[in-house]
Amino acid sequence: MFICCCFFSSQCPYCSKAFVHSAYLQSHIQRKHPEYLPPSADSETKKQSQRMEHEIEELRERLRMTETQMEEERMLVQSQMAAQRVRIRTKAKKRSKEMKCTIREL
Ligand SMILES: [Zn+2]
Repeated sequence: MFICCCFFSSQCPYCSKAFVHSAYLQSHIQRKHPEYLPPSADSETKKQSQRMEHEIEELRERLRMTETQMEEERMLVQSQMAAQRVRIRTKAKKRSKEMKCTIREL
């Protein structure tokens, strides 16, 4: 009986081990190189839903940030408007005082 290297038809692609049957190779990969196994449909779905959850969480965070920013801008505009009102009132008061002085001088 002639046995050459071709007899070991299933060589592990991740290490130098060779197996006479692909089933042995499969179990070897499952035991020794589980990280190289293609992800099962179940874990892929799980991963996808996790990714989606992560994205939703990110969007939620962004929305929160936008809301905070808008609130800050609203407060800024409000305070600016208040400051302007005060400025206008002060100016008006000053002018009326000036006018009163002018009338008195006349
Ligand atoms: Zn191997």
